[in-house]
This record gives sequence, structure tokens and C-alpha cells, in this order.
Amino acid sequence: MLITLSEAASKIKTTNKILITAHVQPDGDAIGSTLATMQMLRSLGKTAQVFIDDSVRKNLHALPHFEEIRRPSAEKFDADLLLILDTSPDRIGNVSKLTDAPILNIDHHVTNKGDGYELCVDTEAAATCEIIFRLSKELDVEITPDIATCLYTGIATDTGFFQFSNTRAETLAIASKLITYGVSPHFISEQLEKKSLAEVRGLSAALNSLKMFYDDKVAGMILDHETAKKFDSTEGFIDEIRVIETVDVAFLITEKAPNVCRVSMRSKGVDVSKIADKLGGGGHIRAAGCTLKTTLADAEKILVEAIGTAIRN
Ligand code: 5GP
Ligand code: MN
Repeated sequence: MLITLSEAASKIKTTNKILITAHVQPDGDAIGSTLATMQMLRSLGKTAQVFIDDSVRKNLHALPHFEEIRRPSAEKFDADLLLILDTSPDRIGNVSKLTDAPILNIDHHVTNKGDGYELCVDTEAAATCEIIFRLSKELDVEITPDIATCLYTGIATDTGFFQFSNTRAETLAIASKLITYGVSPHFISEQLEKKSLAEVRGLSAALNSLKMFYDDKVAGMILDHETAKKFDSTEGFIDEIRVIETVDVAFLITEKAPNVCRVSMRSKGVDVSKIADKLGGGGHIRAAGCTLKTTLADAEKILVEAIGTAIRN
């Protein structure tokens, strides 16, 4: 069921113990939005705790209160609301087992339809952090420099530092306000651009795997498990081939484990959220992903065919 942001705020106001979560394979928006919301709700005197069922890329560890994020265990968490940010409820891993509390979902993904749960979705928002900024106004909470840092990180990462097509005037207006609340943009950029030596070597391996399809309109990189296990993140790899002038769709397939292939897609025109949706994933028009539970060779075949069908239509 779709609800407005002010209805979401009313719901939050009437609850006291809130479990906050976001998607597995968390990005800057997932971590930034959950940590910002946790601080906002605590400032209202509520019990609020973030759980994420995955490891988090090192660059995000410097975010304020990062060390308080918990991984789910067998122990239940006493909550009267499960607040799910930046994803539909099907991508929160074992956090779903921690509580039977009602779900409130706040998201900006076009593939999230709200079937069977209360969803406040704004597909125009560049990041969930933009919506959380507006939520702070609805809840009348003060934006501290720490909260501003978390929100700015989510907006900056989901817009590729204000370069992607989801960057709107309002995105920049919010980012600008966050700077007045104490954000230091260059500090955040420097934290986020850091890569380990292993990651840079991984990028080189990924570039070596480059394959072109459909008259160079599609570019793909394929990382087998042996190569991928040497580094903990492939964030940003796909951007290196998205820039090829003839390319409309870029993809990266990473074999996380035997028969578990993670797919990332980026596009300049084709709606890749539809391709991802068909393959059991989701995302945005120009950035989407899915997991294909098959061999690397099959995953490549399935994906290249699906992209081919999309670019012909
Ligand atoms: P990325 O390629 O950076 O992992 O993901 C691009 C976008 O697609 C992100 O907004 C991400 O949340 C979404 N996405 C990636 N994989 C999946 C998936 O398996 N399911 C859904 N629903 N969304 C995904
Ligand atoms: Mn997001």
C-alpha cells in the first residue's frame, strides 16, 4: 500500500522501538540513510537500532555511528516498527527474522511497488537520503553535522557525485543545505574515492575481461570467483566501461560463489530496471542489478540475450 511521507512520519511518531535496515550489498545511500534516520529517531527519544545483514565496504566505515550497526543473529530484537530504507523488503536478508513488527518502507526504487506493506516511495528522488532529509522536516528534528554527513554521503554516491541523470535542482538544493549544516564535501569525497591496492588490481583484471556486443552498444566485464575473492568491492568498476562512447548498456558480472553471479547494469538510454526486474532483481532506469543463480557462462548468456532484446525494442 502506498502512503505519503507525512503519513510515514505520523506512523514513526506513534512508535517507540524502531529497527532500521536497508539492503544487502549496502551502498552509501543504504548506510547513509539508515545511520541518519537512527540519529534522528534517537534525538526524538526513541530506541532506534540499525541492523544490516552484510559486510560494508571500508570507505563507509568512517561515517558517524557506523560502529553501532549490528549484524542479525538468532536473537530477536524487540521492536514495534521495522523501518526498511532504500529497498523493498525482499533484500534485507535475515533482518526479516529479527522481528514481526509492522513494516514501514521508504524507498526511491521504481521497481518497488509496495504490494503487501506500507510504502512511501518517491522515484524522482535521487537517493533515499533525499527523502530522509524531507522526513527530518516532517519530524521536526534538528540536522546535526553527523546526520548531514550521512545524508550527503547517500546523495553523493547515488548520483555519482551529482553527475548522473537523477541529479535534480532539488538534489543540489538539499546537498547545499546539508553543507550549511556542517558537511565537508571534500572530506567525504576523499573517504569515498579510496581503494585498496587489491581493488585497483581487481579493476585491472576486470578491464582485461572486457567484451563488446551488439555493434559495441553493450560492454561487459566478467569476473570469475577466483579473481573476485581477492578484493572486497567492485564499486565503481562498471563506470570505467559505461563511458565508452558507443556504449548504451554496460554490465559487470561477478561470480560471488559457484552458481551465484551478481549482475550490475548501467545505461544511457535503455531501461535496465526492466531487464533486472525480469531476471528477479530491480533498481532504477539507468542503474539496476540482480543475482543469477547459475554458472558464469550461463549468466553471461542469459544477460546478454536479455539486454539484446531490450536494445532492439
Ligand atoms: P548496483 O549495480 O550498484 O549493485 O545496483 C544498482 C541499483 O540497482 C541500486 O539501486 C540497487 O539497489 C539496485 N539493485 C541491484 N541489485 C538488485 C537486486 O538484486 N534486486 C533489487 N530489487 N535491486 C537491485
Ligand atoms: Mn539508493
